[in-house]
Amino acid sequence: MYTIASARQALDSREISSQELTREYLSRAKEKNPTFNAFITIAEDEAMAAALAADEKIKKGEAGTLTGIPFGVKDAICTADIRSTASAKILDTYTPPFDATVIRKIRAQGGVIIGKQNCDAFGHGASNENSMYGAVKNPWDTERVPGGSSGGSAASVAADMCVYSIAEDTGGSIRQPAAFNNLVGLRPSYGRNSRYGIMPMASSLDTVGPITKTVEDCAIVMEAIAGRDPLDATTVPDVVPAYTEGLRESIKGLRIGIPREYIQDLPNNLQKIIDDAADAFRQMGCEVMDVSLPHTNYAIPVYYIIVPSEDSSNLSRMDGVRYGVRAHEKDLQNVYMQSRAHGFPAEVKRRIMVGTFALSHGYYDAYYKKAQQVRTRIMRDFEEAFNRVDVLLAPTTPTPAFKIGEKANDPLAMYKADIFVGPAAVAGVPAVSVPGGFVDNLPFGVQFIGPRMSEDMILRAAYHFEQATGHGKRVP
Ligand code: GLN
Repeated sequence: MYTIASARQALDSREISSQELTREYLSRAKEKNPTFNAFITIAEDEAMAAALAADEKIKKGEAGTLTGIPFGVKDAICTADIRSTASAKILDTYTPPFDATVIRKIRAQGGVIIGKQNCDAFGHGASNENSMYGAVKNPWDTERVPGGSSGGSAASVAADMCVYSIAEDTGGSIRQPAAFNNLVGLRPSYGRNSRYGIMPMASSLDTVGPITKTVEDCAIVMEAIAGRDPLDATTVPDVVPAYTEGLRESIKGLRIGIPREYIQDLPNNLQKIIDDAADAFRQMGCEVMDVSLPHTNYAIPVYYIIVPSEDSSNLSRMDGVRYGVRAHEKDLQNVYMQSRAHGFPAEVKRRIMVGTFALSHGYYDAYYKKAQQVRTRIMRDFEEAFNRVDVLLAPTTPTPAFKIGEKANDPLAMYKADIFVGPAAVAGVPAVSVPGGFVDNLPFGVQFIGPRMSEDMILRAAYHFEQATGHGKRVP
């Protein structure tokens, strides 16, 4: 079981070569994948070739932090020369001719892609059951979901089929699966990491970030992938802080707010996890206080109008003509209809229809525009809270991992699973989920939410919490 930090040490001291390490991970990934279904594609040849090149780099003393380390990539992220389906049959045969910027940066260092990970199709879901390549099983309990949409990315790290993953979070897809698998998952501030090559879901919310075993690993990946990108005009020019160096700095005096709207309905066993976390911080010399984010309840309705609206526009290019597997039909209308009918799962179709409706003439003001106005209120909630406290501490999810099938036929119940991950996404602020404890032997995550561009601070709070509690050490 390697972390990025321990793999780096082993590689640099020549205890192991990247080719040996990669072979070890490939064989574990192949052995475990029939059980968990975490990978759609295992890229064996590409991985071994990358490992060979990485060993050369290490020999020449040119290794970066991620050189030679096997990782996995969510299948909704483009990888040059490796099939990228977004878990939808419409892209069953799609092999991108280019890398997403974040992937290009890791590959340039000599990172080794083991394979492409199962997810809810185009990132739509919270359980990974909306994949057209089958559900993913949670390594902590194979009758339960691994979370979504980045379920394969989390399950494969939890089962040690790769050292870390790169995933996408539009409204919780990194944090919620991380929470369900006892891992660390960071949704960066909107604009911190390039979205270039991330298959777009909702362009005003999409972000890309790491799922890792430790907070330190998360900081290492962020240092490698963050920063401005001329290919994504929404990236910010702010310099990328030395996240790893900042982790060990003192958090004495840090003001931590617990939003009351996030805990008011928590059952006692989950409330205890939040109380214990608050105590841990008090013991570290932090000040813990109650805060309010009054518009929390509107985040899910707002999210589920804005996201389908932007979805319906973004996904229109998947029509069997511009992109996607083309149905064999005689006339254009039927090419479009049949390609989309067979290429998308029900949830994607639902969002395209809801979004098309919300954006249509006469309804735009009532839905999309209204949702954007309420979105501003949600942003202000956070701004006001951050006038009083430095960081917010909250549960990542309302429950631990639920059973496969439990919410599959109830879209609203599935949407409500996003209740605590949606608000930060809507506001564009960063949040990191870390292992918070266990209930009935299932992991439960807590998240730290901070103001825009405060990744260094929320990672520091997460690191001290991780070190003080040790919950992340437990593996399935
Ligand atoms: N559960 C959210 C949704 O279905 C997660 C999306 C995401 O972050 N990609 O929209």
